[in-house]
Amino acid sequence: MTDPNEPAPSAPLLEVKGLTVEFRTEHGPVQVAREVCFTVRSGETFGLVGESGSGKTVTSLAVLGMVGPSGGRTPAGSVRLDGRELRGLPRRELRRVRGNEIGMIFQESRRSLDPAFTVGDQIAETMRAHLGISRRDARRRAVEMLELVGIPAAARRVHEYPHQFSGGMAQRVMLAIALCCSPKLLIADEPTTALDVTAQAQVLRLIRDLQDELGLAVLFISHDLGVIAQMCDRVAVMYAGQIVEQAPVEDLFLRPRHPYTAALLRSVPNARDGADLVAIPGVVPPAHAWPAGCRFHPRCAHAADRCASEAPGLVPAGDGALVRCLLADTLALEGVR
Ligand code: SF4
Repeated sequence: MTDPNEPAPSAPLLEVKGLTVEFRTEHGPVQVAREVCFTVRSGETFGLVGESGSGKTVTSLAVLGMVGPSGGRTPAGSVRLDGRELRGLPRRELRRVRGNEIGMIFQESRRSLDPAFTVGDQIAETMRAHLGISRRDARRRAVEMLELVGIPAAARRVHEYPHQFSGGMAQRVMLAIALCCSPKLLIADEPTTALDVTAQAQVLRLIRDLQDELGLAVLFISHDLGVIAQMCDRVAVMYAGQIVEQAPVEDLFLRPRHPYTAALLRSVPNARDGADLVAIPGVVPPAHAWPAGCRFHPRCAHAADRCASEAPGLVPAGDGALVRCLLADTLALEGVR
């Protein structure tokens, strides 16, 4: 029952419904993400977590309308930003949305930066292209953006080239570019995976601080449960192209409802003090060979006969959680305390 004193939850800023992504392969058309649904509210960080090959990155690219260049398409689903449908928008309009309303930051920041131009030029050009401001204003604001992301001596460093920045500092530059047009949503895909531990902690803290300061919604994609625990309010766990569990972050860690989530938690060194680590047997199968029934059944320690033939749906499991497991009601899985 709704508490009348509780503020009503804000309408989602990003609403993804039934999103399916398909690629042509030598095995024919293959769905790499299927009927993915989630929402992200303003000021919230929503995490997508899973092993490599689970479909989390392709989902984020589909949200951005960016699977086309790599031969993919989204045959079904809806992506609404602030109530406006993004699927089907003309390419030019989508580019405008990607610059102005959605910022992006990826793992390999250096690859996204042009080595031939100073970082100041690259921030200023992004602002000129999307905001139509003068060269002079763009230059001034480029310095302000470098200050915002905590780059020391910003007025000097704005004239430097990408190779003059460390990995952590280059990732800060990417954040400056991602945020320079004041987007409502930041999509951060493994933003700290290539960084050392210190730079990783600094960049994560920076994203959190900027989110508080700017009221950003963040879609945070990572294979790293420790990072997800630090950063996210709610989390969806992906396996073989589907969301298998979704829950508020603390709930997910304390009381996983899906055997895959529980197995992931047991396989991570820093998520469970003192407990023996247990690797999940096998690997995520390739998309053209996803098994019938529950896609996790060949690796699941709790699988029953019916799991090989019956495909579970994603159903409510109490306390705002969703789970895709035929036996979820009967399993008592261990979490992390
Ligand atoms: Fe395991 Fe069966 Fe649940 Fe799939 S449906 S996660 S195989 S118990």
